Amino acid sequence: MKKLALIIGSGLGGLATAVRLLSQGYHVKIYEKENTIGGKTNQLKQGPFTFDLTASILMNREIYEEVFSDANLNYKDYLGFMKVEPTYRSFYADGSSYDFDRDLPTLVKNLESISTEDAVGYMQFLSEVYERYLVADEHFLQRTFEDLADFFKPSTLINALKTQSLSTAHQLISKYVKNEKLQNFLSYQALYVGISPYEGPSIYPLVPVISQLYGLWHIKGGMYAYVKALEKVIENLGGEIHTDYDVEEIIISNGKAVGIKSKQQEVVHADIVISNADFPYTMEYLIKSDSERGKYTPSKLKEMKYSCATFTIYLGLNKKYPQLSVHNIYINNDFKENINYAFTGQLPVAPSFYIYCPTKIDDSMTKTNGDCLSVVVRVPNLLFDHIKWDEDTIQPLRNSVLSALKHIKGLEDIEQHIEYENYLTPKDLKNRFNAYAGAAFGLSPTLTQTNYFRPHLKSDTIKNLYFVGNSVHPGPGASIVLLSSKLVTQEILVL
Ligand SMILES: Cc1cc2nc3c(=O)[nH]c(=O)nc-3n(C[C@H](O)[C@H](O)[C@H](O)COP(=O)(O)OP(=O)(O)OC[C@H]3O[C@@H](n4cnc5c(N)ncnc54)[C@H](O)[C@@H]3O)c2cc1C
Repeated sequence: MKKLALIIGSGLGGLATAVRLLSQGYHVKIYEKENTIGGKTNQLKQGPFTFDLTASILMNREIYEEVFSDANLNYKDYLGFMKVEPTYRSFYADGSSYDFDRDLPTLVKNLESISTEDAVGYMQFLSEVYERYLVADEHFLQRTFEDLADFFKPSTLINALKTQSLSTAHQLISKYVKNEKLQNFLSYQALYVGISPYEGPSIYPLVPVISQLYGLWHIKGGMYAYVKALEKVIENLGGEIHTDYDVEEIIISNGKAVGIKSKQQEVVHADIVISNADFPYTMEYLIKSDSERGKYTPSKLKEMKYSCATFTIYLGLNKKYPQLSVHNIYINNDFKENINYAFTGQLPVAPSFYIYCPTKIDDSMTKTNGDCLSVVVRVPNLLFDHIKWDEDTIQPLRNSVLSALKHIKGLEDIEQHIEYENYLTPKDLKNRFNAYAGAAFGLSPTLTQTNYFRPHLKSDTIKNLYFVGNSVHPGPGASIVLLSSKLVTQEILVL
């Protein structure tokens, strides 16, 4: 008889694990508390406008494709990738802007317009971090680290040293790149995993390097088209997805996970349980006794480090702004000071932010002649509980973002062209998706919360219980979460 795997949550991690287990002959049932699937990788549809709720930057395209090839399917039957060129456009408070092209001659020309010294430094930075990335990919991102001995093997430790620099992301960048605008553009991307570029040591300068060397991609219809593609595969392979099912407890009997109970006291039994709900939330709320939680007690969870949160503004416009590319970064004055606020509990006074404009290349995301924009600002997570995220928090922050947005040449009139406006706050991330502390990227991927030291994919204390998602190994970000689904499936298959 087929084994039944039960997955709590339909985030990218839950959906991809379902596809992989179904293709290995498991029967799979997903239970999701919301009435839509996808978790944080969700969609906001309002009138003619379609927004990706969170994730929009698609790196490591082959990891997305691999979910299909692992199930002996061709991704081309389910979705279409579009090349994003330039990968980024950066804007500065003084009105200047630069493009970062995939095309090398164009990139070099743009860098030389800053200075030849910086063009050379940029290439040296790429080369150093590229080598580290290759080591990290082979030795860390693709391995499970369930076993302490596995991590403490001399060869692993040597490779671990090769991936790390003792400096912060910003220090490493500044070693090669002298122009402050370029430094800030590169440093900003460390924030994609919710850590500060000024705290270290860190391997996260690899984010801008992967984007530059392997390129960025857009899926026709937006990131949510990937969620819908996985849903289709799950249905075709005979899996079940149950929405509006809020799991209250993982049922444990004789040290084994044997099923789940919903808030309405409905019970479902299974051979294995995989929680895609945020790991710290799972530990604190879905596992009821301290002995079963092992070392992850509520007080230990509180002491751990969490990524920063995000505040997103969605703007449906009745005008197109050709000045914007698909991915844009606005670097404001006093960059370092304002970025640090996200980690010290203050809201930015002069916010720097990321602007996503999918309608630049994908007209399926609007039924008007205008653009759909998502503007994302890094902010403190809810552990800084003096920020209430009510109207008195939201409106001043919204106004300072809009006033900075109007500094971009050509966007001066943007406020007059807003037809639809909405927000996603850290409180929403917590309330809708049970993101612990409203942190956008889960547990912070610091040195002491990485590899063996990050929560494992397989429970250390409860048999037949597994975890997948951004707070477990290998870490945060959509593509890395898809990798965690590959690794957890490997762990389950060796049962
Ligand atoms: C604003 C923002 C922007 C981002 N941008 C990018 C980007 O550009 N590129 C990128 O690669 N990544 C990005 N990310 C990160 C990316 O969105 C996440 O890493 C990824 O979506 C996390 O997937 P996951 O599988 O870990 O879980 P989640 O998406 O957190 O899914 C967990 C699921 O479990 C469900 N659940 C929780 N508790 C229960 C319960 N008790 N019962 C039933 N169901 C439950 C939740 O409702 C949810 O559906 C961004 C994140 C944010 C917040």
